[in-house]
Order: sequence, then structure tokens, then C-alpha cells
Amino acid sequence: MPKAVLLLSGGLDSTLAAILLRRQGVEVLAVTFLTHFGCDITDSSSCSRDPFPAARRFGFQVKLAHLADKFIQIVKDPKYGHGKNMNPCIDCRILMLREAKELMHMVGAQFVATGEVLGQRPMSQRRECFPLMDREAGLEGLVLRPLSALALRPTVPELKGWVDRSRLCGIVGRSRKPQMALAEAFGLTDYPSPAGGCLLTEPGYSYRLRELLQHNPEPSMRELHMLRVGRHFRLSPRVKAVVGRNKEENARLQELYQPREDYLLRAEGCAGPLVVLLGEASQADVLAAASLCARYCDHRHLGQVLIRVQPPGQREPFLLTVAPATAEQLEALRVQAPQGRPKGAGLRAL
Ligand code: SF4
Repeated sequence: MPKAVLLLSGGLDSTLAAILLRRQGVEVLAVTFLTHFGCDITDSSSCSRDPFPAARRFGFQVKLAHLADKFIQIVKDPKYGHGKNMNPCIDCRILMLREAKELMHMVGAQFVATGEVLGQRPMSQRRECFPLMDREAGLEGLVLRPLSALALRPTVPELKGWVDRSRLCGIVGRSRKPQMALAEAFGLTDYPSPAGGCLLTEPGYSYRLRELLQHNPEPSMRELHMLRVGRHFRLSPRVKAVVGRNKEENARLQELYQPREDYLLRAEGCAGPLVVLLGEASQADVLAAASLCARYCDHRHLGQVLIRVQPPGQREPFLLTVAPATAEQLEALRVQAPQGRPKGAGLRAL
């Protein structure tokens, strides 16, 4: 029985690709790659689904693999550039194909398959991109795209008869109707709605990430996770304050807070945000963070607000009385894409 390693996001297209191969008797080992930038099954805002129920139902195996630092490197310096935002889609797909190739050799599979659809995404799913990505991954002729196969040149698995080309599809373009019809025909009802991609395709997140990399080219995982939470203020080149916007974000900040490294601030005697101060903060940075905390708490209408400050590595907090930050101070410190400019414009190159 021929065996394939399939890139499985948990979205509709890759699940359909798995089913198309299974219906031809191909043994499928699906690999779901995880990154620090979400849109995978570990992420509550995920655009993909837990792949295991579909795998059980349609008879294929799933393996999870984290791309970790390899992925961070291509985000920082992608050979084929970024998309509209910080998404290095072509390099990302090449990295995933390379990893799939390793797995293919390890498990004795003959080829790799993906759920890519020709013309569906503007950056990585163009006709000229597929052969380039396959070549860069060392998989020339060995990547089958079952959903678009009839619109592409025959691959080795088709030429060698490991799969029957006539039973593959020729889907092209952005419409999801053909995939939905296929899903219905296969009895696949539980699948996620289409999504634009991972967090790196979001302008707001991308702006924050680029800003972070400008100040710290080797950010920790914690700093990357922090980018998803709260309002961010740059106090000095190495110091940033993150201010929770609601109860959920305060709880998340509390989880990400490192008592040995960060200052933690909150207003005394009223409801308000949690503020985490990251980096080697000076006295002036602590005062600035306290005035941000005052600005967003329920006592902000008072001229002076009492703020409790927990310094890193110390047991006892101290109290500061500060004036809430002014609107001008907020705007000067806030890490936010300039309003009214096109996405990503006005950013310095990394
Ligand atoms: S959107 Fe682009 S960078 Fe993000 S996971 Fe998909 S292919 Fe990779």
C-alpha cells in the first residue's frame, strides 16, 4: 500500500486531501505543525479543528510537531519575503515541506501531500510557487496536491500509479463551494470556516512583532505570547509596559508575569488593569508604568492615584502616588500602527 505524509492544518482543505487519498487506499500519516503564532489546534482562537475525530473516522494517523525556533528564524528573515504583514508564507510552506520530507524518510512513505488549492491564497498558492517550494524542500515531483492535481502537472505518485490521477480533483480559485460539495459527498460536516491565516497575517499583531524585533532581535517565547495580550507601551528601548484591557487579559497577564523578572502594578482600592513592566526598568520607567495603570483604573478621574508596585524578586510591594497619564503621553508611548496608513506602512525594515 502506498504511503503518504500529509500536511494537515485541521482545516477543510487538508482534511479533504486526506480523505481523497484514503479513498484510494493510500496509507496517510498526517502531520500538524504548531508554531508560536497560533491558528493551530492549541489555540483557542484557532481557525482549524482538532484533527483527531476526522482522523479516526476516515482512517488516518495524526502526528503533532512544533516548529519552534526554526519558524522564528524564517519570520525574522524569510528568503522569499513577507506577505502583506509579517507572514512569510512561502518560507513557511518550504519549512513544513522539509520537515515532512524528513518524516517521509523516517516512516518509509513514498510522497508528501498537501491540501493546497491553486489560486486560493495570493502568496503561496500560485502556480509558479508550487514547483519552487517543492524544489527548495528537496521534494521535486513528490508533492501531490489532491484538490488541484488535475490543474497541475502530474507528479511522481500519479506517474508511477501509486494514486489514480483520474480520481483526484481540479479545484482552482478562492471559492469554497467545490470543497463544500466534496465535504457533503464524503459526509464531512464538522469543519471550520475559512480563515485568513495565522497571527502573522494580522496587521496589529505584525506591527507589534516588528516593533519588538527592532528592539530585541532574540525575543523570548514569553515576549511573543505577550504580544497577543493588552495594550503595549514602549517606555524605553529595552522596556515595555503591557496593560490588561479586561478581566480575561488581566488573568492572562498574571499567568505570563515572571515574579523574578518583571514589575507588576495595579491600582490600590479600585478596579483597574494589571500592568506588567518588561525589561530592566529604571525609576522613570516604573513611574511611567504607574501613570499608565492610573490612567486605565476606576480612580482615573482623581488627580492622584495610589498604585501598588511589586518589584521583581522582592517580597514586599511599595506604593506610589501618581497622576494618570495624559492622552498625549499615551499616544507618544503606545505601540500601535499609525492610523490612516496602509497596513504595514511606515515601519522600518528589520
Ligand atoms: S498564514 Fe502563512 S505564515 Fe501563517 S501558517 Fe499559514 S502559510 Fe504559514
